[in-house]
Amino acid sequence: MHFTPKQPLTDRTNWSAAQSSRLYGLEAWGQPYFSVSEQGHVMVRPRAERGGCLDLVSLVRSLQARSLSLPLLIRFDDILEDRLARLHDAFERAIIQYGYRGRYQGVFPIKCHQQRHVLEHVVRVGRRWNFGLEAGSKAELLIALALLDDPDALLVCNGYKDTRYLETAILARRLGRRPLVVIEQPDEVDGLTACSRRLGMAPLMGVRAKLSVQGIGRWGNSSGDGAKFGLSVPDLLTTVNTLRDVGLLEELRLLHVHIGSQISDIAVLKEALQEMGQIYVQLVALGAPMGYLDVGGGLGVDYDGSCTATAASTNYSLQNYANDVVATIQECCQPRGVPMPTLVSESGRAVASHFSVLVFDVLSTGRVNAVVPPSQEEEPLLVRNLRELLATVTPENLQEAWHDAVKFKDDALSAFRLGYLSLSDRGTAEQLYWACCRTIANHLGNQPVPADLQPITTALAATYYANLSIFRSAPDTWAIDQLFPVMPIHRLHEPPQVLGTFADLTCDSDGKLNRFINSGTHKSLLELHHLQPPNPYWMGLFLGGAYQEIMGNLHNLFGRTNAVHIRLASQGGYQVAQVARGNTTSDVLTALDHDPRSLVERLRRDSEIAIAAGNLTVPDAHRFITHVEESLRQSTYLEPGVRPH
Ligand SMILES: *Cc1c(COP(=O)(O)O)cnc(C)c1O
Repeated sequence: MHFTPKQPLTDRTNWSAAQSSRLYGLEAWGQPYFSVSEQGHVMVRPRAERGGCLDLVSLVRSLQARSLSLPLLIRFDDILEDRLARLHDAFERAIIQYGYRGRYQGVFPIKCHQQRHVLEHVVRVGRRWNFGLEAGSKAELLIALALLDDPDALLVCNGYKDTRYLETAILARRLGRRPLVVIEQPDEVDGLTACSRRLGMAPLMGVRAKLSVQGIGRWGNSSGDGAKFGLSVPDLLTTVNTLRDVGLLEELRLLHVHIGSQISDIAVLKEALQEMGQIYVQLVALGAPMGYLDVGGGLGVDYDGSCTATAASTNYSLQNYANDVVATIQECCQPRGVPMPTLVSESGRAVASHFSVLVFDVLSTGRVNAVVPPSQEEEPLLVRNLRELLATVTPENLQEAWHDAVKFKDDALSAFRLGYLSLSDRGTAEQLYWACCRTIANHLGNQPVPADLQPITTALAATYYANLSIFRSAPDTWAIDQLFPVMPIHRLHEPPQVLGTFADLTCDSDGKLNRFINSGTHKSLLELHHLQPPNPYWMGLFLGGAYQEIMGNLHNLFGRTNAVHIRLASQGGYQVAQVARGNTTSDVLTALDHDPRSLVERLRRDSEIAIAAGNLTVPDAHRFITHVEESLRQSTYLEPGVRPH
């Protein structure tokens, strides 16, 4: 899995931007929105082939000029719209191709991105297709009721429901909304019946079925017998009978299924669709009017562009997905003479991943100290051994040299622990060890790295310190080992010279990025450029538009980053449509019940005491309090210009 340089990193002559595009996989996962210019900048085509192209680097510069500092989340509203258009086009094509007598009408699952500007945009541009929303909680239901003003759009109500949730959904029907309350647990039927009776009106209803097909991958247990939600076949039958008994079967319109997110293998999907189709046909046979079949989420994103059934990819296209949904449901309904249902999907990841790009800067780098220290008189034997080893590494004895180096370093550590080696001799031994590693790595050059020498490459890798919290901005990289494409957004016409990983700002040792996409697998080191201070080095994290923002947390009190919405302007160029400033330090402290004002006051009081005691001058006290007050007003991330060096 480790990166094996095909040619030495330092010797990449005639490097071109196109080679970077290949190296970082952008030419595969970036389609059709991202590419690399000849000047080595990442370019964005928010409307894909429909025209308009932005230089991401100039965009970041111009946003910085508006004091929107990094890390910065850039949301391309046009990409969101383009994704919606592609989803609908794919279903439209499939419907025509198979002569399906029904339509597609999707909903956006709010849990994927709850931010108001994003949802408003989804509702506004989705109107032409009567695109709706899916709510999974009472709070999401309120958002959906407020935002969804298209009477023909669907509002699918999932999740646990109490009486207030149910009554709100039922009453909303009187406002002209069309909530479809999905029964997910057997005991929800009684509550629903009671509420309907009390209000003299029933909601449109759905049932969520638990499929026997076991999903695969991370969300595999969203289906199968152990799934958290959904009615088993016996429960489904009981529910239908109860609804018939209480006279509500007339309102049963939708069958809902969700077998998990990021389904990477289309074979799993096909099997699930067959089961869904048969259940749908049976529900109609039992006398339910039905009309809608909701295939849930699961439509995957090809994060690494490899088109494989691996976790960071999918072995199918959007069109394959639509074709399979349409064709399979048709195959189930046609022979039984069951009218074709309106097909619904709750595609969150596939709609929302591409439109947001997180840009962050690298603050500095750290590497092991492999400088060879000058030899001293009367060095301990262990240090002399390492010096001798360093002088005798040759291309012929690399493996042996590596094992000796490790042995001598371990011996030095033991000797230090037992008090036989001074701190300064231990320091010398470590530097010599790293120098041996570096020499071995240089000799390895472009030959394949033998398995037992691979730790050298990783150990010698540089650490790039990133102005970012992965817990805030890319939590899935930590929580579920999700891979997102990460790469520099400029200097792509220069060959990368360094292999490195990223460490974030948090004090958590998990706060790092050290797994990178690598066409169906992953690599532990990323090809990077040397820093050239004072010039910045900017990185982009791509395809992170779904789930990351809401799952992100305040670990180490790093708050929300600045976020902007960019739209292509009709006269060319772009428009900064929305700016959402990130959290200030004061915001995050307040969120945890601290009181910034009394915090300042307490420090001011203590500084007065220190002044009185002659321990602090008035100008220094002023400087101190100004820093405290400014810090509270500013972002939680590092500020440009305030950094040391
Ligand atoms: C999470 C979820 C979705 C969204 O799934 P994606 O894979 O992101 O499309 C859809 N429906 C339900 C019920 C969900 O829980």
